[in-house]
Amino acid sequence: MSNSSPVLSLSHNVTICTGIKFDYWKKGNSRMSKKIICLFDIDGTLTEPRQPIKSNVEKFLLTVVKKDFDIAVVGGSDLNKIKEQLGVEGLFEKYKYVFAENGLVAFNEGKLLPSETIQSMIGEDALQDLINFSLRYISELQLPFKRGTFIEFRTGMLNISPVGRNCTKEEREQFYEYDIENQVRQKFIQALKKEFPNLALTYSIGGQISFDVFPVGWDKTYCLRHIQGYEEIHFFGDKTAVGGNDHEIYESDLTVGHRVTSPEDTINQLKILMTLIKESKEKEQMKIPMQCI
Ligand SMILES: [Mg+2]
Repeated sequence: MSNSSPVLSLSHNVTICTGIKFDYWKKGNSRMSKKIICLFDIDGTLTEPRQPIKSNVEKFLLTVVKKDFDIAVVGGSDLNKIKEQLGVEGLFEKYKYVFAENGLVAFNEGKLLPSETIQSMIGEDALQDLINFSLRYISELQLPFKRGTFIEFRTGMLNISPVGRNCTKEEREQFYEYDIENQVRQKFIQALKKEFPNLALTYSIGGQISFDVFPVGWDKTYCLRHIQGYEEIHFFGDKTAVGGNDHEIYESDLTVGHRVTSPEDTINQLKILMTLIKESKEKEQMKIPMQCI
C-alpha cells in the first residue's frame, strides 16, 4: 500500500476509502461512543526494525491517537527489547496493554497477567531435541559471517537466528539480503518441520535475522485473550502475509486488520481511520443516513 493512497487495506476482504465503502460501516459499526483500541506491532510498524521509536511517531500516538482510542503494543521480542525501543519511562502509562512475546508476557496498565511457558506446553524432552537439532543444523551452515546468540529462549517461544542475534545493524541488513537470495531461514524451517512432524509448533519469520518457534496458537492472536471491554480491536502490522508474524492476528475475526509498510504508513492509515470515524460520527449526529455503496 503506497503511503499516498487514501485507501486502507483491512482484513475480512474489506477495503475502505474516503468514500466510506464497506460492510463494516453497514453493520452499525459507525455508532457513536464505540470503544476502540488500536493494537500495534512494533518492528516495521511503529519503529524501524530493532530501532527506537521516532519522536514524531510517539508524539502522534500519544497526543493525537490517544484522544480517540486506547493504544496497545504487541511484539514477539521480550520485554527488555520492547523497553529499548519504546522507552522505559512511562511505558505502562503510554500503552494500555504491553504484550511481549506475543502476549505470553502481558501487562495491563502495568499489572503482569498470568502466563504459560513453552516447556510446560511441549515438555522438556521435546524441547531439548528441538534445541539440539537446531544447534547441530546451525553448526553445519556456511554463511558469509556468523555472530553469537543463535537461540534465545523466551517464555513462550524459541527465537532461532542462523547468523546469531549479536549482529550489528549493518550485519543484520547484510544477512537479510543474503537470506532473501538464499532462503536460509525458510530451508531451516523446512528441516525442522521434517524432523519434528508430530510437534504442534508454528514457525514464524519476523524481522531480519531470525524466526520464532512456538506452540500452535501462540502467535500474536494469543494476546487477544487479555483484551477486554472493547467493541473493536484495530491491529496494525507489517508482516501480514502467510508465514509472517502478523498474519494470524491480521486475519483474526477478532480484529480489524491494517497492513502497513512503515511507521510513516502507520501514521497515514491512522489519520484516515480517525477521519472516517469522525465523519461517521458527524453524520450520525446530523441524523443523516449513511450512504453506503
Ligand atoms: Mg513487524
